[in-house]
Amino acid sequence: MPELPEVETVRRGLEPFTTGARIEAVRLNRPDLRFPFPQGFSDRLTGRRIEMMARRAKYLLFRLEGGGTLLAHLGMTGNFRYGTGDPMEKHDHVVFALTGTDAPAPYLIYSDPRRFGFMDILEDEETSRWLGHLGPEPLGNQFDAVHLARSFSGRKAPVKALLLDQNVVAGLGNIYVSEALHRAHIHPETPGAQLVKRGAVPTPQLADLTAAVRQVLEEALLSGGSTLQDYRNVDGTTGYFQHRFAVYERAGQACLTPGCAGTVTRIVQSGRSTFFCPACQTTKRRRGGNKKSR
Ligand SMILES: [Zn+2]
Repeated sequence: MPELPEVETVRRGLEPFTTGARIEAVRLNRPDLRFPFPQGFSDRLTGRRIEMMARRAKYLLFRLEGGGTLLAHLGMTGNFRYGTGDPMEKHDHVVFALTGTDAPAPYLIYSDPRRFGFMDILEDEETSRWLGHLGPEPLGNQFDAVHLARSFSGRKAPVKALLLDQNVVAGLGNIYVSEALHRAHIHPETPGAQLVKRGAVPTPQLADLTAAVRQVLEEALLSGGSTLQDYRNVDGTTGYFQHRFAVYERAGQACLTPGCAGTVTRIVQSGRSTFFCPACQTTKRRRGGNKKSR
């Protein structure tokens, strides 16, 4: 499942060849992905010029000249590539014919084997059902320890669940939340309120966590550089870069924190895997809370 850094890497790959491009035609090879395409999808986009390639959380936003936005979510296996459109491949669902850029091939093709991705056309991003409720971008200026302290204040929910809440911060997923908590040495089951002092003041640990969220995302973006180059190949698919994780999917392996002799452990929170090190992620859980076996 692509997370924010992967989606941002795709955005950067698309940007030089979509900004200023005119959509000459749109071909749908099926009526739906995860959701049906909105009515008049092709007609509403044909003839429009793409003014800017943006991203919000894990949504790609093709902002159109004169207003409106084409929104694309990659789901689990969605990807864009440039191609000649001949032959079409089995999972090529949407084909955009673009002119006015130096794109390496005439068509921008959306392919998605599992079809958990979707597209929509928004009249107004701020009020849209997908974007209207989102918290700040984790790499943006509005995301800081004070924001997290206000969001966590009085909340008994585990810090992991709070970071996955898109109203608290936009676009964070399972992988980078696990990584950030490990880097900040915070136990994933710590109640949010425990990281906040009286008056919604962030604790030093919450400040560390805020910095760790930014760091893990920025490092992942840096390692996405090679994907950007691949993206320019006419026949290349984007793929998702192989980033090295400290805890994610490393259960049973040695903790990478310098000086820590712990072993990475997997637990399940809200039906999803959390990976952490019980030796160095040691914020205490709420007194009387459920103790999980190691
Ligand atoms: Zn450790």
